[in-house]
Amino acid sequence: MTATSSFSELKLPEEIQQALIDLKYSEQTLTQQESLPALLSGQDVAVKAKTGSGKTLAFGITLFNSMIEAHRNGHTGLYAMVLCPTRELAQQVAEQLRLLAKHYANTKILTLVGGVPIGAQVSSLVHTPSIVVGTPGRMMDLISRKHLDVSTMQSLVLDEADRMLDMGFSDQVDWILNGLPKKRQTMLFSATFGGAIEKITKQYLKQAKIVEVEENQAHASITQLAYQIQDNRTEYAVAGLLSHYQPQSAMVFCQTKHETQALADELAHMGFIVQAIHGDLAQSDRQQVLAQFALQTCNVLVATDVAARGLDLEQVDLVINSSLADSSDIHTHRIGRTGRAEKTGTAITLIFEHQKNALSKIEEDTKSHIPVKHIQAIRFHANRIVFPTHECVLVAGGKKQKISKGDILGALTKQAEIAGSDIGKMLITRDKSYIAVKQRSVKRALGYFRENKVKGKSLRARRLK
Ligand code: ADP
Ligand code: MG
Repeated sequence: MTATSSFSELKLPEEIQQALIDLKYSEQTLTQQESLPALLSGQDVAVKAKTGSGKTLAFGITLFNSMIEAHRNGHTGLYAMVLCPTRELAQQVAEQLRLLAKHYANTKILTLVGGVPIGAQVSSLVHTPSIVVGTPGRMMDLISRKHLDVSTMQSLVLDEADRMLDMGFSDQVDWILNGLPKKRQTMLFSATFGGAIEKITKQYLKQAKIVEVEENQAHASITQLAYQIQDNRTEYAVAGLLSHYQPQSAMVFCQTKHETQALADELAHMGFIVQAIHGDLAQSDRQQVLAQFALQTCNVLVATDVAARGLDLEQVDLVINSSLADSSDIHTHRIGRTGRAEKTGTAITLIFEHQKNALSKIEEDTKSHIPVKHIQAIRFHANRIVFPTHECVLVAGGKKQKISKGDILGALTKQAEIAGSDIGKMLITRDKSYIAVKQRSVKRALGYFRENKVKGKSLRARRLK
């Protein structure tokens, strides 16, 4: 398919174009080029494309484009629903949509996810939102208790549909979809296209246009290797690889929640600054883990495929598959965490002797070469661990308290007189601020928050471990 590559050629409403300019998005990604013509025509579309290819913006633009037109024709009430497999993903999607909506005042976007009290969501629904983004369970609760009226809905997005099914949401998704108005646009996004995805595509999308984004050359910037390991001491192999390759940041994939936590615990025991992310973590813990990784105050993240899927993490230098992925798609997905956006990266897969055929299959499917090496040469050296350069200071105040990055930077550099170069990245959430501070200035930063107010408020601060 030939397509335009600049957004300006899409004839989008002024409000969207301006938001894209603000966001400094000028060229479309390949996925956007291939999917937007069909999406913008209003038909049902199923898009298969890898993570990080810009799917959120593709459906975001589509939603706003048709919603703005619907509003001009008098539409009121809920316009669109986006279903996501996890809370973080729902939050990331809502954030991206809010940025796109910046120049279109007539938008209220609500995030409706589990793990937070339903009461606050119920009261926020008193003022009808135009777009809801959430997880299937909570969405179903709110619809069935009649807090969320879907009768005016005209647009539905199933984001990361494969993960949604893998996570066991298929009954909830069925229930929700069966209760939606028939006249609507349905957009499905998935990194893989298995039988179950084909089935929901057939069942719920009308004459769906299928867009499969070719991934040739996609991994040209990733160097792949496999190491054959002999026994079950995966943790020593992983520790060895981390101390040998010395990445600034790394992601390690595991199959199960249990393996993920156990491996992270082992690596922490060996001295790495490491965190685990998997489905058993409480919402607030997950947010903390992701914040620390985003700030690079933790530089090794051990994750299950499910927990990692869809998260918009920055690129890492090294991906380690602590065991071989079950499918080529999952393998591709994992290694795609490195080598993004014109950077290069390394992806290493640990395999057992009996998995050589399975590895060859992945090489064949992904048209890549993965040389197998012996792990004996790789030894763990504690003195070769790469530590983060900054530590994380957590402040108990965020956007709700009107705290901005500028406020914090100003307070810490001007009043607390910490060198600007000692303050790293910051992340401000609704009610928390995470600040990366060089170790030597952490005490001073904590002291500052103890003794001073920011924006007129005393804010508790502590070092996050
Ligand atoms: P996916 O849903 O396909 O995994 P995302 O929608 O999360 O991918 O996008 C990945 C990243 O790429 C995001 O940080 C997003 O802001 C960025 N991005 C999306 N589209 C563009 C674009 N056209 N130009 C530059 N960056 C983009
Ligand atoms: Mg996505």
